[in-house]
Amino acid sequence: MKIPKAICQSCAVPILREYDKGIENTGVYSEAYCRRCYQSGTFTDPNMTVAEMHRHIRTKMVEMRFPSFLARLLADKVYSLKRRKDPHAAPHN
Ligand SMILES: [Zn+2]
Repeated sequence: MKIPKAICQSCAVPILREYDKGIENTGVYSEAYCRRCYQSGTFTDPNMTVAEMHRHIRTKMVEMRFPSFLARLLADKVYSLKRRKDPHAAPHN
């Protein structure tokens, strides 16, 4: 299995279809975040810490039947995703 090209910049879940994308407050699809993380231009889980997210991602990937090495690889990406670098999208604001 190849590593998907587009992943959510919050939770690292692969974005495979338009349906998987989040929605901006203007109603258009987000190019950065998935629909589970991001609705109407805001994060659905604004208080989730990076450690919680890491655990969440691994669980989610395993549920999606990703091999565990890949689940871990993708989960580790959470530390370098856009959300973690964007001061406006920090876990505690
Ligand atoms: Zn996401």
